[in-house]
Amino acid sequence: MKIAVTGGKGGTGKSTVATSLAVEFAKTNKTMLVDADVECPNDHLLLSVKRKKYCNVYQPIPKWDFSKCIKCGKCASVCKQNAVVFVKDKFPAFVKEVCIGCKACIVACPNNAISETKKQIGTVYTGKNYNVNLIIGELKLGELASGEVVSEVRKNSEKINKKLKSEIMIIDSSAGIGCPVIASLVGTDYIVAVTEPTPSALHDLKRVLYLADHFKIKSGIVINKFDLAENFYSKIESFAKKNKIPIIGKIPYKKDFVNSTIKMKPVVKINPKYKKIFEEIIKKIKNEINSDL
Ligand code: SF4
Ligand code: SF4
Repeated sequence: MKIAVTGGKGGTGKSTVATSLAVEFAKTNKTMLVDADVECPNDHLLLSVKRKKYCNVYQPIPKWDFSKCIKCGKCASVCKQNAVVFVKDKFPAFVKEVCIGCKACIVACPNNAISETKKQIGTVYTGKNYNVNLIIGELKLGELASGEVVSEVRKNSEKINKKLKSEIMIIDSSAGIGCPVIASLVGTDYIVAVTEPTPSALHDLKRVLYLADHFKIKSGIVINKFDLAENFYSKIESFAKKNKIPIIGKIPYKKDFVNSTIKMKPVVKINPKYKKIFEEIIKKIKNEINSDL
């Protein structure tokens, strides 16, 4: 069973929910947590996991052979990233950092002056705590291709899982609805959309649930800090009712959640009374997808 934890807006508590669900699932099932929020992975901090490097993630980039270059400028004109700068009668200049490896310049060159090499854009790490096997993707500082790193961390998780044989895989996605989020949602059985009672969170929740509907993946809403703003809580409730999306969990606004982050421990280890909330969410997910795990 693969469950993606997402939500649209950043900072709604996706990682808190993903790590807490992983810790609860791991009590009864072999569980893997994939931190696919590659621009800002933090599940290892919330679970006090010491990371171990598993592999590097590379992206193809072009390499110029100026002995073959006829200074036509075509490579620069096809580069949508503006990673190639061309000045008449000069050889093209390459800005490696903004290249996304689309290879259009290689195809466009009339004199085969451009070949392919690679650059490192990220790293995959592994670790384990609370019986949860953690796989982490991290985008290298200054790099742009986060979607590529998410795809690689997903591929490597599947590879690692062939040995581990986890029954539950939870994927903690990044914020938004772009390539990295799509790469996190693909192939999952259920989407947990974490939101909070604020106008921007509701706006982004609608976008991410539109995405879930597009990919025909069942979803449920978890409202974090539900008791923070009564009027916006009821707006989320009516949106969920109107669109027949179940609210599978409500998390109160309590200092224990801040302490959980500060002490780098799951909230259920700070105060066991929250166990019920996550057990209930797991029960509802299992009912939604008719899982007998
Ligand atoms: S591979 Fe694509 S992004 Fe990179 S320099 Fe060539 S055209 Fe530009
Ligand atoms: S397209 Fe090829 S030949 Fe033309 S400027 Fe670029 S590298 Fe040189």
